[in-house]
Amino acid sequence: MNPPVRLNLYDFTREELRAQFVRWDFSPVHAERLWNYLYLQLAESCDATAMPELPEKVRARLAAGGKPDVLPTALATDSSDGFTRKYLLSLADGERIETVLMRFNGRVTACISSQVGCAMGCVFCATGQMGYTRHLTPGEIVAQAVHVARALRSAGEPHRLRNVVLMGMGEPLHNYDAVMSAIDILRDSAGLAIAAERITLSTVGVVPGILRLAAEKRPLHLAVSLHAATQAERAALVPAARKWPLDELMAACRTYSEATGRRIFYEWTLIEGKNDTPEHARAVGNLLRGLPAQVNLIPLNPTSGYAGAPTHNEAAKAFQRILAAEFSLPSTVRQRRGIDIGAGCGQLAVANA
Ligand code: SAH
Ligand code: SF4
Repeated sequence: MNPPVRLNLYDFTREELRAQFVRWDFSPVHAERLWNYLYLQLAESCDATAMPELPEKVRARLAAGGKPDVLPTALATDSSDGFTRKYLLSLADGERIETVLMRFNGRVTACISSQVGCAMGCVFCATGQMGYTRHLTPGEIVAQAVHVARALRSAGEPHRLRNVVLMGMGEPLHNYDAVMSAIDILRDSAGLAIAAERITLSTVGVVPGILRLAAEKRPLHLAVSLHAATQAERAALVPAARKWPLDELMAACRTYSEATGRRIFYEWTLIEGKNDTPEHARAVGNLLRGLPAQVNLIPLNPTSGYAGAPTHNEAAKAFQRILAAEFSLPSTVRQRRGIDIGAGCGQLAVANA
């Protein structure tokens, strides 16, 4: 006889969990109880100590085939300023992903991964340099947020986790369905209850995914990694631009903003001499003219696989002044917090929502 399929309880939306309990011939009331244990108590197992109010028959069923797949910490490192803590978390198959807890302006944000590695190959990105291994499941995405929520609680933090950015390893729109299920679970008001306006998804510019988000009017914030304002310059940094050219990307962004009424954050990794001159600032200003937009400037976090250097602070400020003065375009320069722990390969761009 085949062993029962082992379920990761973090894979289920609340509705799916209720349906699973009905299939098992249990009352959905028990599913609600289990949900509370998972997301309000942040329980790490289904045993009697962690979930005393689950009936024994439910616990026995779970023992045979379902548990929360907690991600063990392989490594945790703090930035020297104490604002960022990076976790290397282990998956069941031995792969590892990065999850980062960031403190910024009194807010705590979890920066979570959507894939092991990434297929998009952006030349300056450590994850891109690794190549693609596999998609994460919804449960593996959710478990990262639960990990950060648990870390906050065990540190005695007064606040719960309120902000999530999908800016860790991987391209979230390449793993669309799993990411959207995970977001539904994170948003559930009877669970972690992360408000939609506090979830930001960052994409390299997967045009079909952006159009699907627009059609589905998904409530979340969208960040688009632009980095260059001409097709040739962009394709040199972001190989995915050959598949989804800049004009198609901008058309998709316009459709998204028109369908949702929301502005998009455009990310721009500042690389000395490559995309950080006043001419580049004017080019992006012109490209985004008339669009509801904010530019997030991220000085390059150097990686071993790319020779570029980060833009100096003065040049970043000058870039920002041009966007403001000549194009009335709001922008932020991200502080390079956590660079001393190699945090998220410089992917810790907090969209200043
Ligand atoms: N795949 C998605 C989300 C993860 S990367 C995307 O590309 O948007 C999150 C952000 O970090 C992106 O804007 C990305 O271009 C940027 N980034 C990646 N590597 C970087 C580095 N070495 N220095 C600065 N920013 C980097
Ligand atoms: Fe992938 Fe984003 Fe890195 Fe590009 S920047 S390789 S899309 S993770």
